Amino acid sequence: MRPSALNPLFASIETLPGLGEKTAKPLGRLLGREARVLDVLFHLPSGIVDRRYRPKIAQAQPGTMATLEVTVEEHHPVPRNRPRAPYRVVVTDGTGWITLVFFGVNRTYVERSLPIGAKRWISGRLELYEGTLQMVHPDKILDEAGLARLPAIEPVYPLVEGVTQNMIGRAARVAVERVPDLPEWLDPNLVSSRHWPSFRDALRHLHLPRQPEDALPESPSRHRLAYDELLSGQLALALVRAHMRRQHGRVSLGDGHIVRALEDALPFRLTASQQRAIQDIRGDLAKPERMLRLLQGDVGSGKTVVALLAMASVVEAGRQAALMAPTEILARQHLKTIKPLADAVNLNVAILTGREKGKERQALLSDIASGKIDIVLGTHALFQERVEFKDLALAVVDEQHRFGVYQRLALAAKGSAVDVLVMTATPIPRTLVLTYFGDMDVSSLHEKPSGRQPIDTRIISSERLDEVIERLGRALETGARVYWVCPLISESERIDAAAAEQRFRDLDCHFPGKVALVHGKMKGSEKDAIMARFAAGETRILVATTVIEVGVDVPEANIIVIEHAERFGLAQLHQLRGRVGRGEIKSTCLLVYKTPLGEMAEARLKIMRETEDGFRIAEEDLRLRGEGELLGTRQSGMPGTKLADVEIYAELLEGARKEAILLLDRNPDLTGGRGEALRALLYLFEREEAAKLLRAG
Ligand code: ADP
Ligand code: MG
Repeated sequence: MRPSALNPLFASIETLPGLGEKTAKPLGRLLGREARVLDVLFHLPSGIVDRRYRPKIAQAQPGTMATLEVTVEEHHPVPRNRPRAPYRVVVTDGTGWITLVFFGVNRTYVERSLPIGAKRWISGRLELYEGTLQMVHPDKILDEAGLARLPAIEPVYPLVEGVTQNMIGRAARVAVERVPDLPEWLDPNLVSSRHWPSFRDALRHLHLPRQPEDALPESPSRHRLAYDELLSGQLALALVRAHMRRQHGRVSLGDGHIVRALEDALPFRLTASQQRAIQDIRGDLAKPERMLRLLQGDVGSGKTVVALLAMASVVEAGRQAALMAPTEILARQHLKTIKPLADAVNLNVAILTGREKGKERQALLSDIASGKIDIVLGTHALFQERVEFKDLALAVVDEQHRFGVYQRLALAAKGSAVDVLVMTATPIPRTLVLTYFGDMDVSSLHEKPSGRQPIDTRIISSERLDEVIERLGRALETGARVYWVCPLISESERIDAAAAEQRFRDLDCHFPGKVALVHGKMKGSEKDAIMARFAAGETRILVATTVIEVGVDVPEANIIVIEHAERFGLAQLHQLRGRVGRGEIKSTCLLVYKTPLGEMAEARLKIMRETEDGFRIAEEDLRLRGEGELLGTRQSGMPGTKLADVEIYAELLEGARKEAILLLDRNPDLTGGRGEALRALLYLFEREEAAKLLRAG
């Protein structure tokens, strides 16, 4: 149970005083639907505005933020014959004059807020323009009462469209008042040696800064919160690991006859690293300890076959295996690859996703429970409580970064001493494996199956989209099969789907009858049918949102166009590009970007052009973005999202890891005062799944 002291933080933001639905709704766009007080608090400012500089006009420095006490002297409305000229207002403080400049502004607004002869405080950036001091669109125009309420130092927040600084700033100011004084969970020595404030004070300093330094990335408050988050994460990991280690394993290895039969049924020879990985896995299965193995392999390196051979190994021993994929498309893809092979050697394979319903589902569930089914493929539906296995011995989790450690654990809890194989296509830099996967063993697929050709990657401005389409036309004549990926425009799948639909219509005009569309809003069966037609070559261009990002395998596809490539992260681009180059034919990847191209985006696209090596790309990604995002653990608004500079936080992370292990060594059930406080920390950062592993305290 969540400690009740935290309840005010988990309440909806609509419970904050002065925050009606009108503000709550746009804020939801920034902080997530059903945003809570905590989400406001964890949406940390990206900087500050310092309004303490209050000079006389005669002494005021251009290029600074200044707050000036002035009297309004003259209005110069927009001249009739020059409608684009600004509305100008001259103000003075007796030592000199400055001009306030307004472009495209409502005349009555200016007249009302700056009546001639009135005393006003104005705040904004001072500039020198043709020899006179001016302020374009002052941030603030205040009377005495307004000035009294103006914070001298104002936090500045990252925003999305439709949300103003004012909205989030107000919400944050009241949210800070809601933070209870929680018992300290950190080591008192650490806190005092680092001069860290308490959790509550840290939030206070960041949202109500007193000095400009309060908001710096290296401020004690930020470090404190970052450490809190890192510690909660490391503690959760350590709990999961401890829980797993407490359970015994067992030997689940057969005599190899099914595995051999499968190898004979394969239309290709295993690569050396596939063979090595299978040996590793069979070695683990032969031991009485639990297997916890990570199978890393770049896109297209052939992980699925390894998974199948691993699963066949436990079926030989008379047990069952399950493979969990992050999406329905992927689960069905696995079925497509695995089913014919399994049929050839008389293995019973079934699929269980959210889509199997009613009688069919009941029958499936009972066949799983009776042991009639040897291998179950599926989505997260697999770890729902009602799914029972006769004797689950191996859980394979595909594309791990999409799942949390807890989901992995939930599946493993479906059997006694289930061995776990985690597969990831995001090559994880060695430095991070330890931190994120702890004591997992690792097998890597280094080489790609032979016969693959390098992918020709090109970067093109969207202004040349016509040329792209023209080239596609020529490629189609020679039998090309094309993915056309539409970007993530918004958080909303609906809007993305609309953009994809638009592109679909455009392309369909150029290539009538040859184009198909698939997006996340479609029904599962509809998606399958479309994918199947594309795989069979009945349609030649598949317009898609990122639903095709992971795992989809159509070896004949040889061109991928990625629109708004600048909006994708490196790992995602790499995944997407991995959809082509899977067959013997030469493939092309066109990264279409929209100008102006930001520095980071340009760096990403260049790396894509330079290399296809997933490990190198992952290292570069880490360098460019920081580790949170790389692993997909970055959630909007968490303090972790501010861990942009890995170098600053690397040292914190290592400390947090050590502390978590030490804490659990000494106090495995997190009891006593410090233990209670640490439980609260777990809940604060929503690691309740891990907290639940603790015996009731
Ligand atoms: P990923 O590692 O991205 O999941 P897949 O398992 O989907 O890769 O394999 C990609 C493609 O390569 C599939 O079409 C698969 O059948 C094929 N493949 C796997 N292993 C080999 C191999 N040793 N030789 C040739 N093709 C292979
Ligand atoms: Mg795969």
